[in-house]
Amino acid sequence: MPVTTHITNVPVTVDEDKCIAHKGCTVCVDVCPLDVLAIDMIKGKAYMKFDECWYCMPCEKDCPTGAVHVDIPYLLR
Ligand code: SF4
Ligand code: SF4
Repeated sequence: MPVTTHITNVPVTVDEDKCIAHKGCTVCVDVCPLDVLAIDMIKGKAYMKFDECWYCMPCEKDCPTGAVHVDIPYLLR
């Protein structure tokens, strides 16, 4: 069984190769009105800490490297 640090079936995912949180970026965490995103201090990457989302999108739009992907449920599109 593969062991993962974070839940992977959450609506917001972060491409860790693109995320520059290790360089001090916290944009997605700052713009999220629900405070569901966080920075993993050990990895230096952003991730979805709580599985809750308004699909308001600033995290994806404002990420300077395009690392955030919000998976909008079909019924909300
Ligand atoms: S805004 Fe983008 S680069 Fe910055 S911490 Fe969030 S995912 Fe990483
Ligand atoms: S879409 Fe909105 S509520 Fe969901 S994680 Fe991004 S900023 Fe937060």
